[in-house]
Amino acid sequence: MNIHEYQAKQLFEKFGVATPKGIVASTAEEAGKAAREIGGPGLVVKAQIHAGGRGKGTFKNGFKGGVHVVDTPEQAQEIAGKMLGQTLVTHQTGPEGKLVSKVLIAKSVDISKEYYFAILFDRGSSGHAIIASTEGGMNIEEVAEKTPEKIIKEFIHPTLGLQAYQCRKVAAALGLRGALAGQAGKLFTALWNLYLKSDCSLVEINPLAITTDNQVVALDAKFNFDDNALYRQKDVTEMRDKTEEDPREVAASEFGLNYIGLDGNIACLVNGAGLAMSTMDIIKFHGGEPANFLDVGGGATKEQVTAAFKIILGDPNVKGILVNIFGGIMDCNIIATGIIAAAQETSLNIPLVVRLEGNNVEAGKATLAASGLKITSADDLTDAAKKIVAAVA
Ligand code: ADP
Ligand code: MG
Repeated sequence: MNIHEYQAKQLFEKFGVATPKGIVASTAEEAGKAAREIGGPGLVVKAQIHAGGRGKGTFKNGFKGGVHVVDTPEQAQEIAGKMLGQTLVTHQTGPEGKLVSKVLIAKSVDISKEYYFAILFDRGSSGHAIIASTEGGMNIEEVAEKTPEKIIKEFIHPTLGLQAYQCRKVAAALGLRGALAGQAGKLFTALWNLYLKSDCSLVEINPLAITTDNQVVALDAKFNFDDNALYRQKDVTEMRDKTEEDPREVAASEFGLNYIGLDGNIACLVNGAGLAMSTMDIIKFHGGEPANFLDVGGGATKEQVTAAFKIILGDPNVKGILVNIFGGIMDCNIIATGIIAAAQETSLNIPLVVRLEGNNVEAGKATLAASGLKITSADDLTDAAKKIVAAVA
């Protein structure tokens, strides 16, 4: 799960991570009021979307930049009016862009240097790590590729946590000395506490800035949270903005389904993540393109199967469905009943290939055959893949 920058700022304030004061606004008038409350001169207006690269982005109506530094509250109000209700395209949004329905008004600072600083879960070392760089404000993937020597990496011990000497080490590697190193260390420690206590998998500050009056401040924030820990993060869960997410994935999560939309035209409905992966592979192997990854889980109910069909059919690209179920825990006959109910309820009118195997498979197949629906039955995975690829060709 991700959150907006203005929400990240609330977490920064709660955990004592230094950041300029900011207020969120949904209308130009609110933006003007927020700007007067913060007080000029020196304000920044920032489009709130779940994507980076806003500064260099362009709105679909031609207006340039999702981050503007302005002098007066009047200017802040005017710029907010130009951003709100418009679609911003950045290198992270894809060509369709993202609708801006909120802007952040914040105090602007005079920057003397920008850095990159992140804490993330590092799968390679099975632990948490700091990634930092003197090349702030830039695309970090590009820095890592072109100038890997400019990337600082420091592993954090899973039980000891971030140590003071590590903060000094990273600050020194960034070229920060004296009071600045002390301030940076304080910010790193506060950010580590935030990261750990909020079950983040990534907190990225790009840029972390040193101001001309020698303050260390976080000017941007990107957060990822561990979805499996959200049940114990009430405050964070309340920050979820479903309008920023793929509506199909939102619907799927409401029914406890694991769904990820893809670009192809063959929808898959499978139980078990491993089987779902191999189903996508074998579709591709036989020349087809999967429209999604969908794992209904080990003990799917009729309601879940129906919901899964509805989500799949909500995708206009879908030209056929492959159901691939291995009844290990699940009874194939229950699945068959679910498929029939879903097919009837959604007035299914595209090819449906079903491969059932395992527990009570004979009864399941008999149920499908007796339904009178146009369902193509398959004997094994290869047969199923060939049949659905041929059906959508
Ligand atoms: P994005 O990464 O989406 O482009 P940022 O928040 O990083 O958005 O903003 C882009 C640039 O705008 C930053 O690199 C920084 O130079 C400038 N900026 C952002 N916030 C402020 C601020 N409060 N004061 C001054 N400049 C800022
Ligand atoms: Mg940034």
